[in-house]
Amino acid sequence: MTDRPLLSVRNLKKHYPIKEGVLSRQVGAARAVDGISFDIAQGETLGLVGESGCGKSTAASSIIRLEEPTSGEVLFHGDGYDDTRTSGDGTTTNDVTEFDDRQLKAFRRDAQMIFQDPSSSFDPRQTIGASIAELLEVHGMTDKQRRRAIVENLLGDVGLSASDYDRYPHEFSGGQKQRIALARALVLNPDLVIADEPVSALDVSIRAEILSLVNDLQEKYGLSVLFISHDLSVIRDVCDRVAVMYLGEIVEIAPTEEVFADPQHPYTEALLSAIPTPDPRNTREDIELKGKVPSPTDPPDGCRFHTRCHRVIQPDEYDLEQSHWRALLTFRDRVVEGSVDVAKTRRALDTDGDGEDTVSDAELKHELRTEFDLPETLSDRSAEDTLAEALDRLVADDHDRAAELLSTFTTPCEESKPELTDRGTNHQASCFLTENEAPLQDAADLRAD
Ligand code: ADP
Ligand code: MG
Repeated sequence: MTDRPLLSVRNLKKHYPIKEGVLSRQVGAARAVDGISFDIAQGETLGLVGESGCGKSTAASSIIRLEEPTSGEVLFHGDGYDDTRTSGDGTTTNDVTEFDDRQLKAFRRDAQMIFQDPSSSFDPRQTIGASIAELLEVHGMTDKQRRRAIVENLLGDVGLSASDYDRYPHEFSGGQKQRIALARALVLNPDLVIADEPVSALDVSIRAEILSLVNDLQEKYGLSVLFISHDLSVIRDVCDRVAVMYLGEIVEIAPTEEVFADPQHPYTEALLSAIPTPDPRNTREDIELKGKVPSPTDPPDGCRFHTRCHRVIQPDEYDLEQSHWRALLTFRDRVVEGSVDVAKTRRALDTDGDGEDTVSDAELKHELRTEFDLPETLSDRSAEDTLAEALDRLVADDHDRAAELLSTFTTPCEESKPELTDRGTNHQASCFLTENEAPLQDAADLRAD
């Protein structure tokens, strides 16, 4: 029984309906969390990492049911959750998404959340001691002296002192407030703590202190922690395992060391390369994550990362320089979505500003290639012919034909969706490239050590 994970999230989804018009008809949905699954073992810290907007906070609030998940299961195996927590109709459930009010109340004692901004989570008119002790009272502890003693003790545990009990929130710095938030999260002796970007709002100089405090407390209290951050470097010091999230999905999950030493998803690789390294000998290649994260209302087909992936796969018939292939697909997507403004480029080139046709088509096409990082000539003859013709059509204002021509460039990455598959013990990733045990070519260069 103790082998069982404390928390098992199964195919969890949270879709926000998008409504329009006076009748508020639902016209679509933002698939903020779109089928994520993971376990957290007793005493384990799992990191959840990804760029802003990828669905981390939505995942957290759906797990803890601050928001109702759209579907999926959240199985919680805290002490006593197997026999005693029966739902209204008398059946037993461990699934948080099915808990009734009584079960939820108990669950919210055993699973606590910490947020990014510690300032907003305290009542300015209440001493910090009273606001923590209040939780004990709500959960049935009637002895006032005992409540105070517990809270004073806890303040010591988080690096403050018992005498801070009677002080008010404004008397503390941001870092101290996050310590108080930790004390409050721990006062009910929870099994699980979900920390959503707990150090992101803090000054860089005090982040390490708070992270090491989280580590100490996690050990001392035997907590399981879901630690959310957009920053992989923060994750490294606190997490046993890391789940990497992109556009509502988990694309890689593995022990922390493996994620850093041997990433199996190009998105993970790109996040790693963004970590600044103080070591000048580390000549790792910088992978720039280009373009913005697509909207979760209309995620790309196939692998959701293919619109930005530096390793997006070429069809068998091509052997282009990889950056040229990436540029070609980006150009295709921009032309197809109609966001390439040829007239604007023409105006920008018209340096004498007289608005007359002094800009040649050749200049214009050259400028478009430069703008989109396309070379003067693609190394593949037939690809170059298609691109050249598309550019001809584009400068002749035949946008539709240009889009049609460019649409003949396709990647396997958009044709079907890679599943999360095994890459080793406890290591899973969803990428066609590494599915057949081909390592990411220069993964070694990216080791952030
Ligand atoms: P993260 O915490 O990783 O930055 P969030 O979970 O906050 O991401 O958001 C994920 C996506 O869901 C974003 O595209 C965001 O715009 C969208 N989203 C979040 N909350 C809502 C909401 N209440 N209604 C509609 N969309 C939302
Ligand atoms: Mg967030």
